[in-house]
Amino acid sequence: MNFADPTLSAQAQGHAAGTACPNCGAGDTRLFYRVEGVPTNSCLLFETREEALGCKRGEISLHFCGGCGFIFNAGFDPDQTEYSDRYEETQGFSPTFSRFHRNLAVELVERHGLRGREVMEIGCGKGEFLVLLSQLGENRGVGVDPSAIPERLEGVPGAERVRLIPEYFEPGHCREEPDFLCCKMTLEHIPDTADFIATIRAGLTEANGTVVFFQVPETYRILQQCAFEDIYHEHCSYFTETSLRRLFEGCGFKVTRTAVEYDDQYLTIEALPSAARSRREDDPSVSEIAELVRTFPERVAAHRDHWRALVRDASAAGRRVVLWGSGSKAVSFLTSLGLAGEVDCVTDINPNRHHHFMPGTGHRIVPPDDLAAIEPGLIVVMNRIYKEEIADHVRNLGLTCDIACL
Ligand SMILES: [Zn+2]
Repeated sequence: MNFADPTLSAQAQGHAAGTACPNCGAGDTRLFYRVEGVPTNSCLLFETREEALGCKRGEISLHFCGGCGFIFNAGFDPDQTEYSDRYEETQGFSPTFSRFHRNLAVELVERHGLRGREVMEIGCGKGEFLVLLSQLGENRGVGVDPSAIPERLEGVPGAERVRLIPEYFEPGHCREEPDFLCCKMTLEHIPDTADFIATIRAGLTEANGTVVFFQVPETYRILQQCAFEDIYHEHCSYFTETSLRRLFEGCGFKVTRTAVEYDDQYLTIEALPSAARSRREDDPSVSEIAELVRTFPERVAAHRDHWRALVRDASAAGRRVVLWGSGSKAVSFLTSLGLAGEVDCVTDINPNRHHHFMPGTGHRIVPPDDLAAIEPGLIVVMNRIYKEEIADHVRNLGLTCDIACL
């Protein structure tokens, strides 16, 4: 999920003025949501509470483009972001996520006949998806990600055909044109979206017909449901189907498929290199997004008040409050709501995160088994797609507390 090009910082600074849209170049952008003092690296793991409290901070300053419907964080500062081996983003410990991930790989292998082919993944994280593609179709894979840890794949079946490059993506990493190029949960970390997609397009020819697959968080749901926990500093680019399609078409791709998946949380696009560079003008879906943006500040304030009150009331009544899920959503939940002592701790099923501390608020991350002794009165689930999985886990621990899902 990790990719941001530090060389783009000069252009990123230009966004602070709220001028041109990095997605379509239009000048019609305006600020509509702001949060200050948020951690700039919400996936980093900290060894001590002091270190976690003293983490780098920045701001969220969401702008909306009336030209293409794109939303971007003009407060994003790439110099404050870190994608290193301290960055722990994998969701692979969740059976729900693993099932989805595997089904996606199976679908892509079937739909695009990926057998014995060259595949490339930009922002491959720890390489799990490339290994799946290798296992399913004996494909050869190259993955690029500054937080990649090649040693973790040693001995994993299928990994012998996968090469991980722990660096930021550069066009030179594609020595030959891949048959399939994927980029999952990464484009939202890139401020200059049009420059980035144009760079990828420059390395591809129409004749080779590389299938390009991108997956990003779906922003229509965030706007509609006021999912403030899905807005965080390092997510500088927010797409709906309209702005994502516009980006690819504007950079010389023919869009062959778009879809919304994973409980409406993920938006995917598939495209082929094309000679045409179309620009859609006056897309009516832009005004629909504009209307959601217009009412967002008032709606999100009410939604945040609701959750703050729920946690504070439980705590005031002497019940221990625990968050389930210690990733970016939890960091955003805690810092956006200004919560501290009202929340006892955070739990997560990813053992790599246990006994570390949450950036910004310094809450400790405990293994789920520790909850038996903590005896929470309220568990707040950061992602409702894991509701059943977590409810089972809680039951098996012998706990009878309330569970609330964001
Ligand atoms: Zn735009």
